[in-house]
Amino acid sequence: MDNHPSKSNSCSEAIKIDRPLCPRCQGLQVYKNGSNILVDGSIVQRWFCQQCRKTFQPSA
Ligand SMILES: [Zn+2]
Repeated sequence: MDNHPSKSNSCSEAIKIDRPLCPRCQGLQVYKNGSNILVDGSIVQRWFCQQCRKTFQPSA
């Protein structure tokens, strides 16, 4: 009975968010802080750094 069917217990895959580094302190403690809509209609994700407590948006 070693032909046990493998349980699909790895379905809860961690959602990987591609977080940018803080451009000021290179910190990883960044959180999403809304988004900006530029004049050309493109949406830019805003981030908040908890270390320097500043918002920034990664240059695309
Ligand atoms: Zn920072």
